[in-house]
Amino acid sequence: MRIIILGPPGVGKGSEAEILVEQFNIPHISTGHIFRELFQQDSPLGKIAHEYIDRGELVPDDITNQIVRHRLSQPDAQNGFLFDGYPRSIPQAIALDQFLEEKGWQLDAVINIHADDELIVKRIGGRRICENCGRIYHIVNNPPKVENICDTCGGRLIQRDDDNEETVSKRLEIYHRQTEPVIDYYEQSGRVIHADGSQTIEKTNQDIMKALGEHH
Ligand SMILES: [Zn+2]
Repeated sequence: MRIIILGPPGVGKGSEAEILVEQFNIPHISTGHIFRELFQQDSPLGKIAHEYIDRGELVPDDITNQIVRHRLSQPDAQNGFLFDGYPRSIPQAIALDQFLEEKGWQLDAVINIHADDELIVKRIGGRRICENCGRIYHIVNNPPKVENICDTCGGRLIQRDDDNEETVSKRLEIYHRQTEPVIDYYEQSGRVIHADGSQTIEKTNQDIMKALGEHH
């Protein structure tokens, strides 16, 4: 299964991605994660990417594309993958289509998880993260078994600094401006599955799995 998952911050994209990679036994490829890994490994590309991220800028398309091409050549990506956070622009989407064509691979689906901005702002306010292992919870939609304590590691749950209304609105605005053209791009070739992210994580996953079945 070769999937791209798109969705605004706070729509539950990360949780859906985690479930899907387990269901299909495919690697979860996040460009943000690759950038951090390369930086820790002292890779020159990783250093360049890190400088952009540090300045709060987007990593240029050519650097991102080089990193993605390299990642797709790894053994674990040969039988499928889930892209999270990529492609983020039309040039990136075109580059990815070229890589896939070179490999003779087809994209199975682009999953677009959507929800109203208003709901997302409210939802992010309830988000909590484990300060120890990074697992994400929600006080209403996905609460821990014991209040403020991580189910996995027993760590303390905290609210991230940038999970406030103003920052979230700004991130949503950037997301809409950047990503909507990418969704339109994939829409032209009929590859988009729209999933309603306002539901529970389980229900959204069921909808995605059903649509993926029909898509094949
Ligand atoms: Zn934890």
